[in-house]
Formats: sequence, C-alpha cells, structure tokens
Amino acid sequence: MRQVKLGLWGPEVSEVCFGSLAISPLQGRVTEEEGVSVLKYALEQGVNWIDTAEIYDNYTQIAAAIKDHPEILIISKSYSVTALEMRQSLEKARTALNRETLDCFMLHEQESALTLKGHSEAWEELLRAKEKGIVRWIGISTHAAAGVRAGALQPGLDVIHPILNYEGLGIIDGNLSDMLESISFAAELGIGIYAMKVFGGGHLTHDPEKAVAFVRSIQGVQAMALGMSSKEEVDYNLLLLAGQEIPRELREKVKHRERKLYIADWCQGCGLCLEACPQDALQLVGSVAVVDAGSCVLCGYCGRVCPHFCLKIV
Ligand code: SF4
Ligand code: SF4
Repeated sequence: MRQVKLGLWGPEVSEVCFGSLAISPLQGRVTEEEGVSVLKYALEQGVNWIDTAEIYDNYTQIAAAIKDHPEILIISKSYSVTALEMRQSLEKARTALNRETLDCFMLHEQESALTLKGHSEAWEELLRAKEKGIVRWIGISTHAAAGVRAGALQPGLDVIHPILNYEGLGIIDGNLSDMLESISFAAELGIGIYAMKVFGGGHLTHDPEKAVAFVRSIQGVQAMALGMSSKEEVDYNLLLLAGQEIPRELREKVKHRERKLYIADWCQGCGLCLEACPQDALQLVGSVAVVDAGSCVLCGYCGRVCPHFCLKIV
C-alpha cells in the first residue's frame, strides 16, 4: 500500500487510515467483536494507523486489535477544555490503549480561532505532554475552513484532520473553495493533513472513484481516513485506492448502501441532540427531532447525547 509522510515532520503512514467511528458503539453497525475482527483484517492488509476519539468509546476494541502490533499508529482526540481535562484524556487513552507513549492526540472539532482560544488551556497541556514525550504529534480535527486556518497558526501543531470531499459536504462555515484555501495555507506551513468524510458521510458513494481522486488531487493532503465496518468494505476500499478493478460480487456485497439517521417515534423533544450536531442538521418540528438528510454526515454524535436512545444510524 502507498506510504505517505504526514507533512514535513509527521510520521510515515499508509495512505489509508482506518476510521474507527464506523465500528464504534456511536454508529452501532457492528458488535464489539465484529469491529475488532474487521480492524485486525485491515491491519493485516497493510493499513497501519487508526483514527479514533474519546467519544467513539472504542479504545478497548482498538487495544484488542493492536495487542501484538506496537508499530500501529493511533490518533485520538478529545473535547478537553481545561488542562486537567486534557491530562485525564491523555491518561485515559494511555491506559485503555496500553500505550506508554501516544502517537498523536488532537483537540476534537475546532471550529475557529475563537474555539481554539476557548481550549487554550487544554492545548497548552497537549504541548507540555509533547515536550515530555507523552505524545509525539499533536493537532486538531475540524469541519470548518476557519478551523483549518486557525489550527495551522497554532504553535506546535503537527497534524490537521479536516472534512473534505468534492461536493464540500459537511463544511460548516463556508464552501469547498474556502476549505481548499485554508488547506493550501496549512500545507504551505508543512502541516500534515489527512481528510475525513471523503464520501460525504455516504452521500457520494455512487462515484467512489471520483471521491478518492478528488482528495488525492489536493496538494498538501497526504492521506484519508476511511470508515469501514466489514471485511468486504476493507477489500473494496483497498482495491479502489490501488486503482484495481473491483469484482462485481464485491461491489454488490458492499454497494455502499444508503445509510440514514433513524429517529425513534418516542423522541421527547428535549433538544439535546440539536446542540450536539456539528452540522445543524437537526431541528424540532412540533415536539420531535427531525433531521435534514442533506446536511447530515452520519457522524453519530447526536446519538450519544439522547437520554432516550432515539437516534441510530441504520
Ligand atoms: S444529525 Fe447526528 S449524525 Fe447527522 S450530522 Fe448531526 S450529529 Fe451527525
Ligand atoms: S435528544 Fe433524543 S429525545 Fe431529545 S430531541 Fe433529540 S432525539 Fe428527541
């Protein structure tokens, strides 16, 4: 598999990063054991890094899959605001993943310079952790063009994980060209960039070749995280990236079926999911939550806050 270097001073990794949200309880597509098995399979095929996050709640899955693979690189992230919260996030990851040193840790979903300012204590703590050798690379993930630009100016930042696809789906503060300008700015500073939501959360799976080719064509974007929840999806994606023909049966099996956010009819209209959605894809109509499927990128973040377990990606 093609190996790339993340930015000027980042690690060397496979072009594909295993996006573990797809096997996490947040998306609920597979059991914990099935997720471990898919992840192990992807690692056997040459994927050598994993993207996760504290809220994905899947450190135990990852720890099980990487038990005999100290060489596999793991990127995690948290919403920590204070230094104490960041210390706790780092300790939680080190303990659960059974790693003395974390490869890469990021601030999750940073929207702008203002958001980063609000998380400055946590960032300072991340910088200290890097100096002490607790974490090797640090960065941010973001759905915003302004987030990429602000992240690039953050002292000590190594890696940015932005949303990027050819339709500009999921960008919360502008359009595709705003995002491309910000990415170009960050890339010129030597920052490592790996894209998320390359298939637009499932909206662009009708032309996966185009989706992958687009991300590859953007200078300064070295890699992409792809969510995979079955061995067939692993095979499919790796053939796609290798530019090889995908057998018809495999295409049929994977068929990137249309997924959607299901909202159960016992929704109580509390509104908590609206606050959790980074895309503003939810609203209350009458007294129940309703999703705008065109804006929803199927991240599953709303599901974890619903006190009545109404939200599920199906
Ligand atoms: S509605 Fe839920 S799944 Fe869709 S983008 Fe918002 S938080 Fe993510
Ligand atoms: S959090 Fe759950 S109960 Fe509350 S509005 Fe959203 S779906 Fe309904």
